[in-house]
Amino acid sequence: SRFADIALPAALHQALDQLGYETATPVQAQTVPPMLQGHDVLVQAKTGSGKTAAFGLALLATLQSDNTQLQGLILCPTRELAEQVSKELRALARFVPNIKILSLCGGVSVRVQLASLSHEPHIVVGTPGRIQDLIKRGALPLDGLSTVILDEADRMLDMGFIEPIKSILEGTPSRRKTWLFSATYTDDIRAISSAFQRTPTDIAI
Ligand code: AMP
Repeated sequence: SRFADIALPAALHQALDQLGYETATPVQAQTVPPMLQGHDVLVQAKTGSGKTAAFGLALLATLQSDNTQLQGLILCPTRELAEQVSKELRALARFVPNIKILSLCGGVSVRVQLASLSHEPHIVVGTPGRIQDLIKRGALPLDGLSTVILDEADRMLDMGFIEPIKSILEGTPSRRKTWLFSATYTDDIRAISSAFQRTPTDIAI
C-alpha cells in the first residue's frame, strides 16, 4: 500500500518523499491507521519491518508542536537503539517546524541531560533505567504525556527492565495511548499489555 493513501500531515509526506519511502511496509500499513485513530496497539514486529517509521509517523502526526509539554515517550532496550530511533524520528520530522526530540540514556552524564531538558522536548527517547531516574528527580514532567511507546518490549523485559517500565507507566496520565512493539509475544508481554493497555488492536505481521 502507498503512503499517499494514508492520511498524514503534508510535512510527513514531504519527508517520506525525500527519504524515498513510497510503499508502506506491512507493519506500517496495518498499524499506522489504528494509531492515528487513537487506539492502543499491540504489535508483533521484528527489526527491519519498518516498525520505527510506523510509530514515528503516527506519533509525529498526533503531536502538537505549539504545545511545549513532553507529549511522546519512547522506551528502548539499549542506547544504540534509542539513538537509531531518534535519528529516524528526526529524519521524518524534518519538515515539521519546531519539533524537539531528545535522547536520554544511561552511560551519559545526568547533569548534562538535566541541562538538555531545559529545551523542553516534545519527544523523549530513552532507556528505562535512566528515564525512571530522571522521573524520580522530577526532571521529566509527565502530565502532558499523550503517548508512550515500548519498542522491542521483549528485549527490555529480557534485560530486566520490568520494574522501571512498570514504574514509568504507573506515573503517566491514564488517558495516554500505549503502543507496544515486540518481536515475540510471551506471557510477560501479555501481562504488561493487559495491565497497561486499553483494548489494544492486536497486530501480528
Ligand atoms: P526498522 O524495522 O524500523 O528498524 O526499519 C528498517 C529499515 O527500513 C530502516 O533503515 C528504515 O529506514 C527503512 N524503512 C522503513 N520504512 C520504509 C519504507 N516504507 N520504505 C523503505 N524503507 C523503509
